[in-house]
Amino acid sequence: MRIVVIGAGVIGTALAARLGGGAAQVWLLDGGEPGAGTTASSMAWINAHSKAPRHYHELAVSGMRAHAALVHETGPRAYAEDGAFGGMHGGAHGRAGGGSRAGWYRPGGALRWASGGPGLDLLHRTVARLQDWGYAAEWIPVPRARELEPAVRIDDGAQVAYFRDEAAVDPRPLVAHLLATARAGGVHVRTGDAARVVGIDTAGGRVRGVRCAGGETVPADVAVCCAGWRTPAVAALAGAHVPLVPGDAPGSEAPTLLAHLEPAAGGPPLTRMVLTPRLHARPLAGGRVYLEALDLNDEVDQHTPADRVAALARELLARAHHMLPAVADTARLAGGRVCTRPMPPDDNSIVGWNAEAEGLYTVVTHSGMTLSLRLGELVAGELLTGREAPELAPYRPSRFVR
Ligand SMILES: Cc1cc2nc3c(=O)[nH]c(=O)nc-3n(C[C@H](O)[C@H](O)[C@H](O)COP(=O)(O)OP(=O)(O)OC[C@H]3O[C@@H](n4cnc5c(N)ncnc54)[C@H](O)[C@@H]3O)c2cc1C
Repeated sequence: MRIVVIGAGVIGTALAARLGGGAAQVWLLDGGEPGAGTTASSMAWINAHSKAPRHYHELAVSGMRAHAALVHETGPRAYAEDGAFGGMHGGAHGRAGGGSRAGWYRPGGALRWASGGPGLDLLHRTVARLQDWGYAAEWIPVPRARELEPAVRIDDGAQVAYFRDEAAVDPRPLVAHLLATARAGGVHVRTGDAARVVGIDTAGGRVRGVRCAGGETVPADVAVCCAGWRTPAVAALAGAHVPLVPGDAPGSEAPTLLAHLEPAAGGPPLTRMVLTPRLHARPLAGGRVYLEALDLNDEVDQHTPADRVAALARELLARAHHMLPAVADTARLAGGRVCTRPMPPDDNSIVGWNAEAEGLYTVVTHSGMTLSLRLGELVAGELLTGREAPELAPYRPSRFVR
């Protein structure tokens, strides 16, 4: 069987890594650089915090476990080089090794707090639901939270929840690792504009080949669309309809705002995910910090003028001064930008065979950093064995067919 995976973001590379070494001949095509799409700009918080309904929560929990399993299998080099952390109970994760590594995984959990109002109500509801579902969510005293994360300012009146099994990943090194695994498994990787997919050939209603901008047609029995927010355009090449929230439409809710802080040396670094109603922050390589605020996402789309994006990024910095004074007061704002999420209309993943062309399969999702490795396992299993994975039953493209 010849399988062509279209798109080498975290979804396509995780799938290709699983398909390699099997009975199929596999190609992975990307019209740009692997991992440089939405994946590169992702906050990449590995969590099942706000996923509903229950089956989607469970899929995200299995995604978290798949990340932990990859780290276990890879060993110390999976950890981000400067991924300073200590677990809730004394840093039991233990980083061994040392020396230069290009790892991706940042354990240490997530801290989320609120001081009142709707933010606190929401946090109470979230913790209660997650505890009910058996997820690691607990209330901790403010002094304990300050001990865990000395770089942040937490008001005395705040209530703090700790989610110890959550993590973050650095997208680029994760994708590099998955790509290396795919290549080692014999996957043919083509990237750059010549590999941009411009056609999916069908004959008798079946996929026969994938045409690239460089002129090559890769023969295919199966074409898998993993093109992120551009998936509708790629699937349409074979006549299929994949209904994402249109990423480039004016006013679309798919685009989001983010900014980075480049801190000066000194002061305690941020070491784990921290979330408040006004700001989400996470550590990045080299002591940098990633910033996002959910309410500011409503202010941007792909057409927002650069000066407005810059002003909103400065608002993120202002909020960081309040929440992360030890970092932000000496930091430089390293640009803000707008990035587009692949957003299925019901927020749940779209995974499975498309009815419009035999051999056409789609994998597109929000929360793709969390879900990538688990979806890679499940989808590779379906493609290679022909057996349907029961976990994927709620996510079939057919649910949108009227
Ligand atoms: C600001 C932000 C924060 C986020 N935070 C989180 C988070 O905390 N946790 C989480 O789990 N998820 C998060 N997400 C979502 C997550 O990042 C995405 O779900 C995930 O990165 C999508 O990966 P992908 O591989 O589907 O898409 P992409 O990374 O966009 O990859 C698609 C690839 O397809 C290629 N492509 C497109 N068209 C073609 C074509 N015609 N031919 C060849 N190649 C093509 C592109 O070049 C690209 O490399 C966030 C997203 C954003 C934007």
